[in-house]
Amino acid sequence: MLSYRHAFHAGNHADVLKHVVLTQVLGYLLQKDSPLWYIDTHAGLGEYPLNPRPPAGQAEWLDGIARLWQEPALPAALEPYLARVRALNPDGRLRRYPGSPRLAADLLRPGDKAWLYELLGKDFEVLQARFRGQSDVRCTAADGFAALKGLLPPAPRRGLIFIDPSYEMKSDYERLLDTLADALRRFAGGCYLVWYPVVHRREAQELPSRLQALQAPRWLRAELRVRAPPAEGYGLYGSGMFVINPPWTLPGTMQEALPWLARRLALDGQASHLLLHELP
Ligand code: SAM
Repeated sequence: MLSYRHAFHAGNHADVLKHVVLTQVLGYLLQKDSPLWYIDTHAGLGEYPLNPRPPAGQAEWLDGIARLWQEPALPAALEPYLARVRALNPDGRLRRYPGSPRLAADLLRPGDKAWLYELLGKDFEVLQARFRGQSDVRCTAADGFAALKGLLPPAPRRGLIFIDPSYEMKSDYERLLDTLADALRRFAGGCYLVWYPVVHRREAQELPSRLQALQAPRWLRAELRVRAPPAEGYGLYGSGMFVINPPWTLPGTMQEALPWLARRLALDGQASHLLLHELP
């Protein structure tokens, strides 16, 4: 039984990191004319209302996107991301937040295609309603890990695969690794973006090195920690993106973005960032 609801977390520090990376990578891939498939294995609702007076404990966006929204001196690396958030809030008041499907669908061109998977029935209905009538956006109520097999390699041989599980079930860690290993056999040239949590849980702490052990020849790991590890409990204190086959421009972009984000989104004096890559 799934109980995770992304609506409570939309626009938090983890969303900021994952969506900065997503907009950067998509922007790069869309510079080339040939068609692209965007595959989102864990799509969520597509976009989210932001409660201006959230109840205690549900104010995550106030420490995330809200801290960037009116920033006068934004690093260039964050501009494409902020431009998408502004497009959804044209009157200048931050009231809606774009999830990964909205960010991608708004950037894709005629001839590109988005495949969105959401397992939770109610969330799927909202997602499907958002993109009704857009024939280039295909929404499916199904397990995104399992569905990926059938889509690879993509017909146009160019693809961005965004994998953003909730890690609600411990099995998500193993399923992610198995799915990626299989995906790389089917489509080694794909660009894979994987979000992972930084929490006190053995499976989470081992995940980045296990992703590296998949031995994709080109990868990048960008991590943002917004506070000290909690003394007890599983609280999220940071997150990371692991990118297989990143654009050559991504290390430079993240080198600019990460230190700035660590300062701006810090919740205490121990915020930090990490950037590792292998791009032969
Ligand atoms: N990618 C979204 C974004 O950036 O806006 C957020 C996704 S949220 C972190 C994870 C979503 O995956 C939840 O909506 C959850 O219901 C859904 N989910 C959980 N397990 C799934 C699975 N095996 N296949 C597809 N969706 C799943």
